[in-house]
Amino acid sequence: KSPLIEIRNLKKYYPIRKGLLKRVVNHVKAVDGLDFTIYKGETLGLVGESGCGKSTTGRTILQLLQPTEGEVIYEGKNLVGMRHSQLRKLRKSMQMVFQDPYASLDPRLTVGQIIAEPIEIHGLYSGKEKDKRVHELLHVVGLNSYHAKRHPHEFSGGQRQRIGIARALALEPKLIVADEPVSALDVSIQSQVINLLQDLQGQFGLTYLFIAHDLSVVKHISDRVGVMYLGRMVELADKNEIYESPLHPYTRALLSAVPVPDPLAKRERIVLQGDVPSPANPPQGCTFHPRCAECMDICRTKRPEWKNINGHYVACHLY
Ligand code: SF4
Ligand code: MG
Repeated sequence: KSPLIEIRNLKKYYPIRKGLLKRVVNHVKAVDGLDFTIYKGETLGLVGESGCGKSTTGRTILQLLQPTEGEVIYEGKNLVGMRHSQLRKLRKSMQMVFQDPYASLDPRLTVGQIIAEPIEIHGLYSGKEKDKRVHELLHVVGLNSYHAKRHPHEFSGGQRQRIGIARALALEPKLIVADEPVSALDVSIQSQVINLLQDLQGQFGLTYLFIAHDLSVVKHISDRVGVMYLGRMVELADKNEIYESPLHPYTRALLSAVPVPDPLAKRERIVLQGDVPSPANPPQGCTFHPRCAECMDICRTKRPEWKNINGHYVACHLY
């Protein structure tokens, strides 16, 4: 396994300003110190409740948002603080697929124009070659050449997500950050889009960061899974480890909400106490402690370190 992207101490804070002088009184710590690697050809599932910083993580990795601190090393080069012209070239190889394909597709353009746009911006192909490439991309995602002349509103949600995927593939990326790509779709359509993403990964050797809010969505597609809580990663391990022997109490709680296919393999439902605290005023110590059934004294004061137990990472004082 060789790394495609290494993320080191990544932070994204948003200032909260108050008063006439708009003084900074606090920060929303959307992403608060992430350290992990995405390996070539893998799918890393990133899971957590809404507001835990998953989307911000994806956007900060792609430099669509400027990180407050930290490094994003792509094939040996730090993207943070890189000159715009240099970043522009590298950005071709990193694309995003969005949650709501409709909002991310310009309704005034035809599907052909939408897919051709990145190709034009980066001057990859023009004229007949460009048209050929657009048709190729439509076929690759399971649509047809005649769809090129239609507009986004003429398509179903699943088809629109296919268009979004075709657009993301137009520049032959290596990494795709898929931010809840199936959350807006009917359950029956979700698996079709996930299967398509898996086929494309095999075909083009893609690496995925696949963001979702629950563990059942990423189970099929992921090689490893990371769990986020309040801007931090609390656990990261191979898929089987996460689903069969989760270490962190938060992961166990999330997992207890996932339906099990085997009714004999009963799992006790763990109901989380209270709400997710505000990322502007996260609890001291382990930020999960007010909701944790296994909370100890040390948890209220000391932040647990990010420990590596034979490749299974966890941040919890139980270990
Ligand atoms: Fe629970 Fe303590 Fe582990 Fe936090 S560190 S998850 S409070 S046991
Ligand atoms: Mg989100």
